[in-house]
Amino acid sequence: MTPCALTIAGSDSGGGAGIQADLKTFAAHRVHGLSAIAALTAQHTRGVTAVEVPSTAFLRAQIDACFDDFGIGAVKLGMLATAEVIHAVADALERHAPRHVVLDPVMVATSGARLLEPAALDALRQRLLPLATVVTPNLPEAELLLGTPIATHDAMREASAALLRTGVRAVLLKGGHLADDGDVVDLLADANGMTTYRHPRFQLEAHGTGCTLASAVAANLCRGLALADACRAAGDYVHAALQSGYRPGRSDIVVLDHF
Ligand code: PLP
Repeated sequence: MTPCALTIAGSDSGGGAGIQADLKTFAAHRVHGLSAIAALTAQHTRGVTAVEVPSTAFLRAQIDACFDDFGIGAVKLGMLATAEVIHAVADALERHAPRHVVLDPVMVATSGARLLEPAALDALRQRLLPLATVVTPNLPEAELLLGTPIATHDAMREASAALLRTGVRAVLLKGGHLADDGDVVDLLADANGMTTYRHPRFQLEAHGTGCTLASAVAANLCRGLALADACRAAGDYVHAALQSGYRPGRSDIVVLDHF
């Protein structure tokens, strides 16, 4: 049977991030992609121009329709916009109890646009972190989750351990935002210890890397890989997709090549 993965996230009209990146990533991993759209963004490579959030009743209908007909191996969570949406998603995940949940705690876009209302941070901490197989924050997101700055590789280790102490099962902390010209080092921390993944840093501004990484982890879990292998393969996928990335808009922003 073809594995199925569900993304519950925001739509990016520009096609570089969000639901659109998630579905392209699932397809590239030969996983059938399902989607429940939690937010709509009007967006191009230069920024977000408008956001609209569908009703929670309609979001619930999308999620229930997917679980009612497909064997879903993994769920990826992306932009959820509001506390109300987070509660609706958590309720649905508690009802359907999928095997794997990859939580990308999307908060602010690279362009600076807010993708999660500040008041929703507590709901994310209390309702979604406990449901996640793995949470995939970048450094600014981990800083907001923990309330402490993370500026070094040692601080990344301490932050991952601190997140595990809050009851999170596994953390894939992405090091791309570290002010550092060296390799990008991502860190997986779980009950088995810590694993690092290293890739050469590209000097470019990219869009959709976080969405793609989390979706690739979900696709790999869906295909039966163990978490550490799923994260390693996902990092390699993002690196390769960035290497042949392209500029579809009028700005210098690079989107990933999933072809
Ligand atoms: N738009 C949507 C709908 C997203 O889900 C995300 C990221 O998760 C973004 C935009 C931001 O992408 P980036 O920060 O890579 O520009």
